[in-house]
Amino acid sequence: MALGMGRRGPTGKPRYSIFALARNALSYHENWQAAWRSPEPKPSYDAIIVGGGGHGLATAYYLASVHGIRNVAVLEKGWIGGGNTGRNTTIIRSNYLWDQSAAIYEHALKLWETMSQELNFNVMFSQRGVITLAHSEHELREMRRRVEAIRLNGIDTEVLTAADIKKLVPIINTDPSIRYPVMGGFIQKRGGTARHDAVAWGYARAADDFGVDIIQNCEVTGFRRGADGAIQGVETSKGFIGAKKVGCVAAGHSAVLSEMAGFKLPIQARPLQALVSEPIKPCIDTVVMSNAVHMYISQSDKGELVFGAGTDSYNSYAQRGSLNIVEHLLAAAVELYPIVSRLRVLRTWGGIVDTCPDASPIISKTPVPGLYFNCGWGTGGFKATPGSGHVFADLVANGQPNAIAAPFSLERFRTGFLVDEHGAAGVAH
Ligand SMILES: Cc1cc2nc3c(=O)[nH]c(=O)nc-3n(C[C@H](O)[C@H](O)[C@H](O)COP(=O)(O)OP(=O)(O)OC[C@H]3O[C@@H](n4cnc5c(N)ncnc54)[C@H](O)[C@@H]3O)c2cc1C
Repeated sequence: MALGMGRRGPTGKPRYSIFALARNALSYHENWQAAWRSPEPKPSYDAIIVGGGGHGLATAYYLASVHGIRNVAVLEKGWIGGGNTGRNTTIIRSNYLWDQSAAIYEHALKLWETMSQELNFNVMFSQRGVITLAHSEHELREMRRRVEAIRLNGIDTEVLTAADIKKLVPIINTDPSIRYPVMGGFIQKRGGTARHDAVAWGYARAADDFGVDIIQNCEVTGFRRGADGAIQGVETSKGFIGAKKVGCVAAGHSAVLSEMAGFKLPIQARPLQALVSEPIKPCIDTVVMSNAVHMYISQSDKGELVFGAGTDSYNSYAQRGSLNIVEHLLAAAVELYPIVSRLRVLRTWGGIVDTCPDASPIISKTPVPGLYFNCGWGTGGFKATPGSGHVFADLVANGQPNAIAAPFSLERFRTGFLVDEHGAAGVAH
């Protein structure tokens, strides 16, 4: 499978480099070329991607770079990266239990490892390791089993004792008498974080370089179908735009779009929140997750401690969540990392995540010929961004899913061949 490695677009944007930085410093950084154009939509395209998040932009980039389909538009109702892509806590890992999940997340992780070079855009991918804590004997036993399964798929992961964890995370409280004692855990050292906005901007710039039109403030309001039922294009806030292939990558709004197209998706849209503390000196150089308490922590390059929680328990399209989730998260954070009690919360926010019953994504053809959906990534799709875009571009280009995407088709909800990561990972970040 071609990865589209290192290809440059035909318009040949100047490369970002230390020399470009120095050259532009001489003119007070006033002469940088815009990273992407802001064109008006053409009457029609070979393919339209609905949703300018990381997944949609990656899809457009791989359609152009791998499949040579360059007459493509990405339609975004707001601004690119303004959805979950710019709101997530950026945890990246591939240590999933089931073979199908391991295949797609590891495919993505490999692409992360070369993304900055390929896009010529520093996405600040930092393989600082991701630790998952066990708070009970049962969880520890289950983790040992999971580690063996993950290793059978050739993915790096190791069991850790509580003492190992204390060494890696000195600020953690390993007192065995606390409510959620640290009994051990496991680590994926190749996991880590990246700069979320940069991922959207990097894919947008590289896709634009291939001639892809990125059209912001353009909401898709309906789908037009021909007499044969096949897709003919989309109705938008900027008028009708024609295309024989349409890929929807709209995360929390996927079910809204599928309703417009006349079918239902097995998706629930829920708020998911995160928050950051005021910035402090470096004190944690890895990511620590705790599924049992639905709390995870890392430190941003600016010094803020980044905290995430579980989803709200109700459906909503409001990009904010409830206070009880924040209270629960902070109670656990203060107990596990006592220094947190002296910090102030700087900012909280929420996104709308699209959760499937089996906590696995949908990458699929639909009942409408020419219309494809990529959604259902729920609380954990940022890590999949490059892999998801890569396999979805393949589906849109060829009309058939490749081996990595095939298990994630809508068909699985009819056949019962679910990829049930729900039981495997309480929180799927
Ligand atoms: C608080 C929070 C923390 C998270 N933490 C992590 C994490 O640590 N690790 C991880 O892997 N994942 C995490 N996630 C999940 C991750 O953010 C998402 O799975 C992923 O970013 C989805 O990317 P996307 O491109 O599909 O969606 P989005 O970035 O949401 O993009 C979809 C776009 O579609 C647009 N759109 C919707 N409807 C229309 C329409 N009708 N017309 C045109 N455009 C439309 C939206 O405006 C949006 O920009 C988190 C999510 C949240 C909210």
